[in-house]
Amino acid sequence: MAIWNLGSINIDHVYRMEHLPRPGETLAASSFSTGLGGKGANQSIAAALAGAATQHLGAMGKGDDWVIDRLQSAGVGTGNILRLADTATGHAIILLDSTAENSIIIHPGANRALSVEALTGAMRALTSNDTLLIQNETNCQAEAAQIARAAGARVIYSAAPFDLEALRKVMPHVSILAMNAGEADQLFAAISGDPPVEGLLITRGAEGVEYRDLKDGKTWHHPAFPVDPVDTTGAGDTFAGYFAAALDRGDTIPEALRLASAAAALKVTRAGAGDAIPSLEEVLNFIS
Ligand code: ADP
Repeated sequence: MAIWNLGSINIDHVYRMEHLPRPGETLAASSFSTGLGGKGANQSIAAALAGAATQHLGAMGKGDDWVIDRLQSAGVGTGNILRLADTATGHAIILLDSTAENSIIIHPGANRALSVEALTGAMRALTSNDTLLIQNETNCQAEAAQIARAAGARVIYSAAPFDLEALRKVMPHVSILAMNAGEADQLFAAISGDPPVEGLLITRGAEGVEYRDLKDGKTWHHPAFPVDPVDTTGAGDTFAGYFAAALDRGDTIPEALRLASAAAALKVTRAGAGDAIPSLEEVLNFIS
């Protein structure tokens, strides 16, 4: 029982300013902060904090060792993160104005420089009791999913950011497809009938979550825990990591939905992404 998470690692650089710069304008930011983000890093942190043995599969440039320290201190195994020369660590430049409107540039960098050879080597230790988590911010998702399914492992795919072409390539190897409501709308606008997977997880923000077992037609719902939202960044990633960890340790679907909903609700009460994901102890206290 372990979670392997093929995913992005991004360094988020957040600049605050009165208004967003217009073309040709140079502005001084009123504040600057740096944090750990990327859907992959967030989901690895969530799965590890939830108690799952978690191995991150991904790539970074040289330097930025604090990112590895941060992942390790959450309990994430980092031995399979490639350190590439001449390729920047993935990063996001996030500009926020005084009304919280934003402009964001993402440079995928090392996140999209993975090789199938390196992944195949790293995934040799994956067993049929394990889970592969994937999102859409790296390359090689379909190849990794294929290796994991051939080994008999569960594959959970967060179809975010939504990309129909990528989704079509990965879908034949996916056990559980996880989407937010907007992504689900885009998928159902593009295909007729249900996707060819075993389970469909649709998160609907403050309206909660539904899970459909497409093999036996059963559907479960869980309402969102009522909280005062501060920052919804990373809510879906927190949900996905906790949900995967819950299934990995043998929880039922309703148990997994409840734990993941509580973890995501608690995340929403805190500013930040990877650094704001709650521990299992905090989640259990919250629901007790
Ligand atoms: P994403 O972050 O991928 O867009 P959602 O917005 O659907 O995903 O949020 C994922 C989960 O996080 C929801 O199903 C819910 O459990 C929890 N969540 C999100 N927003 C809130 C909120 N305002 N209050 C409580 N829980 C929330």
